[in-house]
Amino acid sequence: MRAPRILVTGGAGFIGSHTCVALIAAGYLPVVLDTLVNSDARSLQRVACITGVEPVLVCGDVRDAVALDRVFAAYNVAAVVHLAGLKAVGESVADPVSYYDVNLAGTLALVQAMDRAGVRRLVFSSSATVYGDSQPSPIAESAPYAAVNPYGRTKAMVESVLADLARADARWGIACLRYFNPIGAHESGLLGERPHGPPNNLMPYIAQVAAGQRECLVVHGADYDTVDGTGVRDYVHVMDVAEGHVSALRHAARRPGILMANLGTGRGASVLEVVSAFERASGRRIALRIGPRRPGDAPAYWADARGAWQAFGWRARRDLDQMCADSWRWQAANPHGFDDPAPAHASGLPRFQDNTSTSINSKPGHSHA
Ligand code: NAD
Ligand code: UDP
Repeated sequence: MRAPRILVTGGAGFIGSHTCVALIAAGYLPVVLDTLVNSDARSLQRVACITGVEPVLVCGDVRDAVALDRVFAAYNVAAVVHLAGLKAVGESVADPVSYYDVNLAGTLALVQAMDRAGVRRLVFSSSATVYGDSQPSPIAESAPYAAVNPYGRTKAMVESVLADLARADARWGIACLRYFNPIGAHESGLLGERPHGPPNNLMPYIAQVAAGQRECLVVHGADYDTVDGTGVRDYVHVMDVAEGHVSALRHAARRPGILMANLGTGRGASVLEVVSAFERASGRRIALRIGPRRPGDAPAYWADARGAWQAFGWRARRDLDQMCADSWRWQAANPHGFDDPAPAHASGLPRFQDNTSTSINSKPGHSHA
């Protein structure tokens, strides 16, 4: 029997590429739709090094109805994991219209195309940002929407659209996964996060300081009412997050309706605790200095992670030490990200490419790799 194909929008990105690994390990074949605006097609070659299967890449935009129709016509897609989107909070404040366009209009175009194709199983990448910055922790899924920036509002709006859709049409099965702070890398050291330019987020910044690529970490505030004065977040291993998509997909396939689920560990860690864990994992000292608070930062929040366990049997299995060890393995082996050559036949697995279709993009100049 052929493996079911899953359309993974944004599948070349950080979480998407790890999700492809988890899907393949679970017996699915990912078909990736991505503009590569914030990613690198070579991430999918690394997926192949790890799994022996290179996902098909369709270079196309999730807002492009014609491209979507062609994907659904060319591949016998069983379900969709929708990760494509823009995710920088500061950029969303400066350019909100682009965020509503890609994140909200992109999802509308996608669900319309899914409906035309009769594919009504969807896992959506949402975010803990839908809760805003004033909910008491641990934050359960029942907490109200209170996003404080355009990025978070796009995620809350998409969730509301999907909830209305599931209420209106019982044929849909949808899971919205609210990620807390995904970090880490695949344990092979072959796949990880490679931000364009200086990292905004804590973990890639620490990794680059450890590697000598940046001078020192600036800690954004050490006067919060937390264990050591620095900000506290619920960091969750990206492979745990990736595997959460597989569990949620199975749930959505069995159960019509919509489910919102936090993906977090249920534990918070401060900036200084992450730094210490990274020093242990890497054997390097992380130079740091205390700077002012970052505007808009919440002092501390973490997930109530019980909902995903109760609904579809997922919980995070990897701890902060493993997140740091895997980030460091990736950083140390790939100081230039995907520009560093992957070891040939890294996994020893035969490579298989699911190349059953020719070009299906609607716009000239887009290639089908
Ligand atoms: P990423 O930028 O690495 O991945 C997003 C992918 O979407 C990229 O490959 C990008 O090229 C692609 N993309 C962007 N616009 C597109 C479009 N119009 N059409 C097709 N592809 C497009 O980011 P990520 O960290 O992997 O995040 C994936 C998803 O998870 C996003 O929706 C993000 O909002 C959400 N999320 C991420 C985090 C996090 O901390 N990384 C937290 C919560 C939610
Ligand atoms: N942080 C920091 N220095 C950095 C980047 C982040 O001190 O260079 C802190 C930030 O203030 C927050 C935590 O690390 O308390 C996590 O920040 P990140 O941007 O990774 O996640 P988010 O704030 O979006 O949850």
